[in-house]
Amino acid sequence: MSPRLVLATHNAHKVREVRQILAQAIPGFEPEDLVSAPDLGADEPVEDGVTFAENALIKARAIAAHTHLPAIADDSGLAVDVLGGAPGIFSARWCGRHGDDRANLDLLLAQLAEVSDAHRGAAFVCAAALVLPDGREVVEHGEMRGRLLRAPVGSGGFGYDPILVPEGETRSSAQLTPEEKNARSHRGAAFRALAPAIAAALGEGKTLGEG
Ligand code: IMP
Repeated sequence: MSPRLVLATHNAHKVREVRQILAQAIPGFEPEDLVSAPDLGADEPVEDGVTFAENALIKARAIAAHTHLPAIADDSGLAVDVLGGAPGIFSARWCGRHGDDRANLDLLLAQLAEVSDAHRGAAFVCAAALVLPDGREVVEHGEMRGRLLRAPVGSGGFGYDPILVPEGETRSSAQLTPEEKNARSHRGAAFRALAPAIAAALGEGKTLGEG
């Protein structure tokens, strides 16, 4: 079957997570229904919004215009209580370079070295956007609260997963199975909230092959 939906990300971890989330949330959704931006040779737009929602929309609008397919995107990050919500939209480039997960995490841990265990609350936050080729747009949000460790633990997931222990858990987000993470994660919540709109768009949509 031709892809019917495009995900505006170059992050392979996100592609896997979103495929699994939508396969559970939308009856009949197949992994091959979803392609990612690099599969279609699309560049990444400049993310110059100041909120997660604005950046998710920027990414989804760009790929919808490029492909003429229904497009989804997420913008997500870690919001630390004692830092007033930072790194927030700067999570992927907190150390000054985009996408260096280990350097981002090490810098954050150093900044929080003096913060006691009682004040290490934080949340992963996600805005998920759907943009249709005719211009219709929907945005939904999700979050996963937890507390921050003092050193990374676990090898799953990506980004700051090794230093966040979700509420009610003893393991870090990087120690959860993909299914466990998706069931409670910010991205899972946001895309499950978006799923009815995605399902409706797929119901009325056409495939790539139909131009
Ligand atoms: P984005 O790709 O512009 O949305 O940036 C997201 C950044 O936030 C990533 O590079 C990670 O640093 C962080 N982040 C977002 N979601 C997660 C997650 O599920 N686990 C760990 N880190 C995440």
